[in-house]
Amino acid sequence: MFQSARLKLTAWYLLIIMLISISFSIAMYQLLTNELDRVERAQRLRQERQLPINTPFELRPRTPRVFTIDPEVIEETKNRIKVTLLLINLGILGLSSLAGYFLAGRTLKPIQMMVEEQNRFITDASHELRTPITSLKSEIEVNLRDRKLKREAKKVLQSNLEDVNRLQTLTDDLIRLTQYQKTNGLVIEKVSLSEIIKEAVSKVLNLAKVKKIAIKDQIKDSVLEGDKKSLTEVLVILLDNAIKYSPKNTTIKLTTKRNDHYLIIDITDQGIGIDKEDLPYLFDRFYRADKSRTKTNVAGYGLGLSIAKQIINKHHGDIKVESKLGKGSIFSIVFPCKHTS
Ligand code: ADP
Repeated sequence: MFQSARLKLTAWYLLIIMLISISFSIAMYQLLTNELDRVERAQRLRQERQLPINTPFELRPRTPRVFTIDPEVIEETKNRIKVTLLLINLGILGLSSLAGYFLAGRTLKPIQMMVEEQNRFITDASHELRTPITSLKSEIEVNLRDRKLKREAKKVLQSNLEDVNRLQTLTDDLIRLTQYQKTNGLVIEKVSLSEIIKEAVSKVLNLAKVKKIAIKDQIKDSVLEGDKKSLTEVLVILLDNAIKYSPKNTTIKLTTKRNDHYLIIDITDQGIGIDKEDLPYLFDRFYRADKSRTKTNVAGYGLGLSIAKQIINKHHGDIKVESKLGKGSIFSIVFPCKHTS
């Protein structure tokens, strides 16, 4: 993330420096050539003025006039100025690329450190929360098994357990999100697309069965170069969302398309769809499209899609979404072909 930001900032620095340098060179060139023309004109006039004004035309010398500055020399000088200015600009381009890259690194360093510090804090806090949440969960579960417990008390404990489960999901999601933001952590190897689809489908099958949602796998197998565990996780997130945000008795389709540059995996659902206004923010952390939340009252923290995007970006790919409110959505994983075969 910071490397591409550094390159972009360097490009901006370069653009500004080169704009100033080229404008300055053009102005210099105009100034110098005008000055040369003026000197040449002045020289010519002076030469002419050396003849007495009333010299009859017949008595003026017939031989070609000899100028002190030869026009060819002037032309050659102009060309030399042009070449020199060009070389100076090339030198400035080279030097400012190096200086710009160095300065961009220094400018972004404090921001990078702040983001790393923030991620460390989120990871540490989530890890600290994990232990009490786990013991709270097991205590509630033990108490729920107590037969002497009254119905009312059981209801309260059941609701507590649901909240604790949600908290556990949140801390796990936060840890995963910060983990994937780091550059390392992925094991890149050749993985079969059908294999990861099969694994992801098996993980969400129960959820789909409860809502009587059919998952149609129409994928043509390909070999991807990537981290098997995290790619499976992306598919689980997208399939899980497709199930969560679809009504009962609908179908989810998994298909692939391929062009010269990309392999595209489409996950198409017949769910509630997403409003156009929500689409640009869908992959932001903690973003939940309001309409779908109020319509379905589905639990979640709005972290799944940002985790999925983070993972796919680490594989140099992208996730896109097309959706129509009330009709359904297509989430597309775009994988660069150099990572597939
Ligand atoms: P979560 O599902 O936990 O809220 P996500 O980051 O996975 O978080 O999704 C963000 C939001 O995007 C969801 O709250 C939902 O509004 C919307 N969304 C994601 N997938 C779909 C889908 N297949 N159909 C409709 N809305 C979706």
